[in-house]
Amino acid sequence: MPFPGDKHFHARILERRDLSPDLWLLRLDPGAPFKFLAGQYATLGVEQNGKRTERAYSIVSSPYEDALEFFLELVPHGELTPLLYNLKEGDALLCRKIAKGRFTIDLRSGRTQHLLVSTVTGVAPFVSYIRTLYRDWKSGDSPMPGNHKFYCLQGGSRSWEFGYREELERYAAEVPWFKYVATVSRPWEDEKWKGETGRVDDLLRKYANLWDLRPESTTAYLCGHPNMVENARGILQRAGWKKGAMFEELYFQPGKTGQSELANSAIP
Ligand SMILES: Cc1cc2nc3c(=O)[nH]c(=O)nc-3n(C[C@H](O)[C@H](O)[C@H](O)COP(=O)(O)OP(=O)(O)OC[C@H]3O[C@@H](n4cnc5c(N)ncnc54)[C@H](O)[C@@H]3O)c2cc1C
Repeated sequence: MPFPGDKHFHARILERRDLSPDLWLLRLDPGAPFKFLAGQYATLGVEQNGKRTERAYSIVSSPYEDALEFFLELVPHGELTPLLYNLKEGDALLCRKIAKGRFTIDLRSGRTQHLLVSTVTGVAPFVSYIRTLYRDWKSGDSPMPGNHKFYCLQGGSRSWEFGYREELERYAAEVPWFKYVATVSRPWEDEKWKGETGRVDDLLRKYANLWDLRPESTTAYLCGHPNMVENARGILQRAGWKKGAMFEELYFQPGKTGQSELANSAIP
């Protein structure tokens, strides 16, 4: 039981699904109502030998769902992910009571096209956006002003890294406001893959042209691997996107432990 003043909920794992030796999905019961906006992250942690180690994880689920869902990648020599990786259904972990982050849907700028670009687990906030919008659309109760459209490009080395491909393809087949393309950068390691190939940043120009996305009317959201974010930012800048029209969520800085002071901390 959490004691008064504790910053954490004592969450419990409801479901675990392994996608590959280093990628897995978790669904958690946060232990108490957890408020967040689609696109925000939760701070998850494990306490071991009196030390709490915490990191930021984008929330995959929609605020409409009771369970909190995450898409995780094992960093073999990392501080937290090997501990998270050992957890199974029914196990407890820490979840900070407050969700954070500003990587939410841009409804302020007046731009009505949204280009969502991700690598592997970086698709998490976009799944949360689309699940939420889909539910609103289905109930005929969409709070979204105007005629917004969403275009998602997801990159992975091989197709088993996508996690949410089938779900996103189903939405794209059903609704008029969402398009989705997954691309594999190592097709020689995935011979059955029949879809798009190449790195997601290398395909940006192609799809921006194909979907007729223009800098004046499109907000770009870049999420995941820092090299992809940097390359994609440069490509979009050269195509006319201004700083305020590109949102970024970098999952780590190469060679640096405990990336963001607020997001990622190891608390003794
Ligand atoms: C806002 C935000 C949201 C995030 N959302 C997710 C998410 O949804 N899913 C997810 O799996 N991670 C996510 N991350 C990354 C997560 O917070 C941790 O950084 C990651 O899980 C590694 O933690 P660790 O303690 O195991 O490794 P650390 O001990 O923190 O890092 C060890 C070393 O590995 C490097 N490193 C860290 N992550 C990676 C990686 N993925 N690939 C290669 N090298 C890496 C670090 O730079 C460092 O050099 C997010 C990060 C931020 C800031």
